[in-house]
Amino acid sequence: MDATGFVGGKATDGAQWNEVINPADTAQVVGRYARSDAAEVQAAVLAAHDAFRGWAELGATARAELMLAAAGELERLAPELAPTISLEVGKVLAESVFDASGAAGLLRAFAGLADLAERELDLSDLPTSKPARAAKVRRVPVGPVAVISPWNTPVYLTFNMVAPALISGCSVVVKPPEAAPLAVTAMLHRLAELLPPGVVNVVPGTGAEAGEALTRHPLIRCVLFTGGVASGRKVLQSAAGTVKKVSLELGGNDPALVLESATVTDALLRELIAGSFSSSGQICYNIKRIYAHRSQYAEVVEGLRAMTAGLVVGDPFDSGAHMGPVTTGMGYERALRLLADSEREGAQVHRTGTRAASAKWDAGYYVDPHLVTGLPRDAELVVEEQFAPILPVLPFDTDDEAVAEANRTEYGLGSSVWSDDPAHAETVARRIEAGNTFINTHRVGASVASVPFGGMKQSGLGRNHGEHSLAACTEEHAIVHLVGDELPGIGRWMNLTTEGKAE
Ligand code: NAD
Repeated sequence: MDATGFVGGKATDGAQWNEVINPADTAQVVGRYARSDAAEVQAAVLAAHDAFRGWAELGATARAELMLAAAGELERLAPELAPTISLEVGKVLAESVFDASGAAGLLRAFAGLADLAERELDLSDLPTSKPARAAKVRRVPVGPVAVISPWNTPVYLTFNMVAPALISGCSVVVKPPEAAPLAVTAMLHRLAELLPPGVVNVVPGTGAEAGEALTRHPLIRCVLFTGGVASGRKVLQSAAGTVKKVSLELGGNDPALVLESATVTDALLRELIAGSFSSSGQICYNIKRIYAHRSQYAEVVEGLRAMTAGLVVGDPFDSGAHMGPVTTGMGYERALRLLADSEREGAQVHRTGTRAASAKWDAGYYVDPHLVTGLPRDAELVVEEQFAPILPVLPFDTDDEAVAEANRTEYGLGSSVWSDDPAHAETVARRIEAGNTFINTHRVGASVASVPFGGMKQSGLGRNHGEHSLAACTEEHAIVHLVGDELPGIGRWMNLTTEGKAE
């Protein structure tokens, strides 16, 4: 399968191509993407610029109708494209089916927000608006938007940014992730064909080339970015030159705090494992470190060891597998290094899981699930996002210590607190510096669509989900009428008359 650009209503030809490989068998080329260069980005931005006004003026109700019609088409495409996601990302097929269905689901969800997307508030009756003003505040689209997405859940995370931009009235230029551009580009081509030309444009390519050119472009008014912290910093820098809006959904190093008031049941262990190892540890808000109260630390570690033994690592198309390989060569090398470093630091590195016969262990980026105990609290595996199925577990003695460890990081995306006592859990949860704190859960799906999702500290800027996603794609336009002849106080001293005198 090839992924090409789509500009101004037409698929483009690729001049230079990069290969996409199968992480479950790295000798297998799954497809290619055409590497968009600065000239193609320029053409795509101009097409988005030309299409913007018409799309904005269509009105949110008409946009919603087109999005709903497109959702029906993309829903039909999803089963066909889910296997491609497994081939490029290495996710087990069930996770890819969920990802592929995200395109239609998100178009429908945001079509349902049409009223909010063009909300108009009348502030005339506010005491602060009187006397002499009648004010309206309109939500208006910001202009052409750049969407830049990561490979770990490529379709869902791309449409999580495309859908709010479209309902807001923005045209988009999308830069899909280079490790997994195939399925999402096919979805975007179909969407682009169903909307007016230039409303959706696609520039497959690298972050350093196409991504950089997009974020720098003066006609792009907002960048919606999901990816790692290091890339997020670069996006902020290149967007600064033209003072554009930027929404950043970045990495996380989510702590899970198992409090003294929690009973260590199978259900609790099962949730911790699902929250840590889904997608081979490659979800932004997976649990990245567990802190357990010392009174039950041994029980938690033993329970995790016993239960993770049943985690099956296999080929993504093996229906018995819970996890496939990690996605990129860089991620694979880093995972092996983190394990070697942990051993060198004197930690206990426990290999767990079950290798299915379907996994081509020596041909793919397969990493066994691991539990690591006895790490220093400032080890890289503890303070940085590992994005691999390697889970550090550490003890704590007091709630104060648990909160301090949870917050001793520059990340602040997700987090969780585990307890039988909801009041105790919430007291601790309120002290955590993170965009989301879940209580007694932390698996994918814990963050529901109406609740704001995003990061504190270096995990990001802005919030996603529902109405919160509209904030980045829109501006507030205030229209203020003068009512009657009463003039605003501050201007009174300049009340001149045509006789050339002050009143
Ligand atoms: P990445 O930052 O390497 O790449 C993300 C996207 O940014 C890609 O499309 C890439 O080409 C592009 N990019 C890279 N450098 C760029 C630049 N200088 N200018 C413009 N674009 C550039 O991230 P990744 O490896 O694809 O994804 C994994 C990371 O994403 C993890 O840190 C994960 O936690 C994070 N993530 C966050 C969320 C969230 O909602 N907060 C969701 C998923 C993933």
